[in-house]
Amino acid sequence: MARIALVTGGMGGIGTAICQKLADAGHTVVTTYSRPGKEVQWLADQKEKGYTFHAYQCDVADYESCQALAARISAEVGPVDVLVNNAGITKDTTFRKMSKVDWDVVMRTDLDSIFNVTKPFIDGMTDRSFGRVINISSINGQKGQFGQTNYSAAKAGMHGFTKALAQEVAKKGVTVNTVSPGYIATEMVMAVKEEIRHAIISGIPVNRLGLPEEVADLVVYLAGDKSGFITGSNIAINGGQHMF
Ligand code: NDP
Repeated sequence: MARIALVTGGMGGIGTAICQKLADAGHTVVTTYSRPGKEVQWLADQKEKGYTFHAYQCDVADYESCQALAARISAEVGPVDVLVNNAGITKDTTFRKMSKVDWDVVMRTDLDSIFNVTKPFIDGMTDRSFGRVINISSINGQKGQFGQTNYSAAKAGMHGFTKALAQEVAKKGVTVNTVSPGYIATEMVMAVKEEIRHAIISGIPVNRLGLPEEVADLVVYLAGDKSGFITGSNIAINGGQHMF
């Protein structure tokens, strides 16, 4: 069934693929950006490819900004049944060098955001007896990563949130799941020096990077009607790099 889906940070490498695949599945897709300006070119590029998306400015780290976003979407697009908490940042450095600012900005953007954005939409989902909340975490939230105490902690926090909220809303037809990608061939990963990229790939059993479209296909499945028995789960999509 076609629904309204909100994808936070949908103009990035993985987010764009999620927006496109949700639209391919028939959903009306709303996305957000935090830095004004970039949406103009992105929306034009998407239009050329045949996609029309709704785009709103929102800082997912800011509670009030997310409440305002929800009010605008509700008034201008309609009720959101599918929420993909995808926006995220990194601020990598070893713990000894990490400043409080580096810690706070990642915790606010990658963890507080799922409270800020999920909060204004969850009651509508339970009232309508259908909802899908899909949190994009990371392999590094499962296994930890050198230089990412902030990011690993924030992403690990998503798993606890997912499992707790899943229990609270399960009877109301709302599922809450986490998707944990490994190394995905986004611009950021492709910009890494070739020899480092080869070293990364040699540590991935399937011997390649993942594709944004592969993450997006998984999200589309979780967003759909057939996934109703999957909740409180973490689904790893990492080519076998971490098998827990
Ligand atoms: P990108 O950096 O390409 O995109 C991230 C998006 O988040 C951008 O569109 C950005 O929008 C948005 N964003 C950042 N800060 C904020 C904010 N404060 N408020 C609103 N939006 C914000 O990342 P990816 O597509 O690579 O990653 C998407 C998700 O997948 C992230 O959560 C990431 O942690 C996770 N992930 C990615 C992996 C990879 O290999 N790429 C691996 C594992 C997990 P703007 O530019 O407008 O700020």
